[in-house]
Amino acid sequence: MPMDDRSTFSYKSPNVFGRIAVAWKLIIGLRGQELQSVGSWIERNYAQSGRVVGFIRFVGWAVKSMLVDIPNALVGVTFAKPMSKVSYWLAADNPVKNHPWASQPNARLPEACEVVVIGAGFTGAACAYHWSKRNGGQMVLLEMNEAASGASGRNEGVVVMGRFHAYVKKMMLDDLPRVRPDLDSAQRERLAEKFAEAYVRAAYKNADYDLSRPFATRGFGVDYARVGWVQGQTDDSQDYLDYSVRESYEKGLRRLGLGRAEAGPGIDRHEGRVRVEDTGDRYAVHTNRGTITARYVINATESYTAALHPEFIGKLVPIQTNAAFAEGGPAAMKEHVAMGGPNSWFGKHPDGVILGTGGITLDYTQAGRIRPSRFLTNYIITEIQHIFGHSPMHVFREWSCTAGFTDDEYPIVGLLDGKNQYIIAGMCGSGSGVHFNGARHVVDHILGIEGPDDYPEQFFSPTRVLDPEAHLWPE
Ligand SMILES: Cc1cc2nc3c(=O)[nH]c(=O)nc-3n(C[C@H](O)[C@H](O)[C@H](O)COP(=O)(O)OP(=O)(O)OC[C@H]3O[C@@H](n4cnc5c(N)ncnc54)[C@H](O)[C@@H]3O)c2cc1C
Repeated sequence: MPMDDRSTFSYKSPNVFGRIAVAWKLIIGLRGQELQSVGSWIERNYAQSGRVVGFIRFVGWAVKSMLVDIPNALVGVTFAKPMSKVSYWLAADNPVKNHPWASQPNARLPEACEVVVIGAGFTGAACAYHWSKRNGGQMVLLEMNEAASGASGRNEGVVVMGRFHAYVKKMMLDDLPRVRPDLDSAQRERLAEKFAEAYVRAAYKNADYDLSRPFATRGFGVDYARVGWVQGQTDDSQDYLDYSVRESYEKGLRRLGLGRAEAGPGIDRHEGRVRVEDTGDRYAVHTNRGTITARYVINATESYTAALHPEFIGKLVPIQTNAAFAEGGPAAMKEHVAMGGPNSWFGKHPDGVILGTGGITLDYTQAGRIRPSRFLTNYIITEIQHIFGHSPMHVFREWSCTAGFTDDEYPIVGLLDGKNQYIIAGMCGSGSGVHFNGARHVVDHILGIEGPDDYPEQFFSPTRVLDPEAHLWPE
């Protein structure tokens, strides 16, 4: 339906043939990736039911979705043909495309520098920002595609400052029996509590940064707002949130914040990857444009990391997240208020709605994959229609990328090799909170600047996920 006809739109429930037609289209549109995500869906939604009952509940849900909920939701929803796979953010021109070769074709990489940062997404850019503010010497930022061509240019644009205390504690409690079987339940409770406290303190520090400033002062357009409230989508989640707020108050952790930012543009252009070689007191970083010797290396490669450091295979896993952009959307949905539940998230923009959902685990060689799922787009549209009431939409962008997930779903920030090579990764789909302050933390560490220890080693060192037995947990 052309969006101009929106004002004349009136909802008419589909008849039985219409429903069967939608279900049939959904079924023949299913690909391996949707089937692959069934397991994680069941785990997320029916964890308490056990495998068999969980599967039966899933089948019931799938049949109802295909024959009732999705056909109802798709009335007045149209899909562009062909569908663009370029993200909402990457649709504009990239001001740093092919930098610096676009303007200096004969430019060469330096043979030596102080720090090499690998990866020019949010994290790599934040490293460069903090480094330049502190006049740290020469830093080289390497990118194998284009700046922001990974998750940073293909996300939903919600500046997530981190998860809330009760949630972090619960997740750690669920995970600790795996990594710390030696502890009894009271000790696990205390450790989970300490971890959650450290994480939430760091998240609040992250929220204190005015993320718009670094961009605005350099003349980039920024659309960022701190709105400052959070609301549960259901009664249960509202209760949980209330409980977390009470608990946070008791611990003196008093804030909740929410905001939204716009990422810079970029395009996909796969070139050679880099390789890091430890040569003793330096690193040789080999690229397809020559080798750079550096005293320090920062890996800002997130879900791509295992291709560079195989010890992360199976430990820092790319999970595909899907997103789509639709013109139109519910009038009742407010701009600058991001909404998310266990299976989907969405936010209103002046020209439409960005919607997304995640959950397809990929092999490390598939990091950055662009293979959005129409089934998932339909599912999120159904959620939106259910929450806000029915509205027509025209979907004309569907994209995907990968976020880097650790087993416990918390980030790693710190030294990778006990020498001078660092990593900032494992944002697990809520990266914006960590990349900026995590980069500050690492840059200060390299420069020996006494700063706030927002990412203490005992909680955030990569050994937590690489080798939990050898990790130096807090007493
Ligand atoms: C669809 C989607 C929606 C999301 N929505 C949100 C959201 O709403 N809010 C939120 O907070 N987070 C969201 N996230 C997560 C967030 O986007 C990421 O956590 C964040 O972008 C990570 O930034 P990064 O710089 O660490 O990684 P990336 O942006 O992935 O950057 C890594 C860069 O490293 C480069 N690279 C990798 N290996 C090499 C190599 N060997 N040599 C040279 N370069 C290399 C890659 O090309 C890439 O550009 C979403 C993620 C996805 C995929």
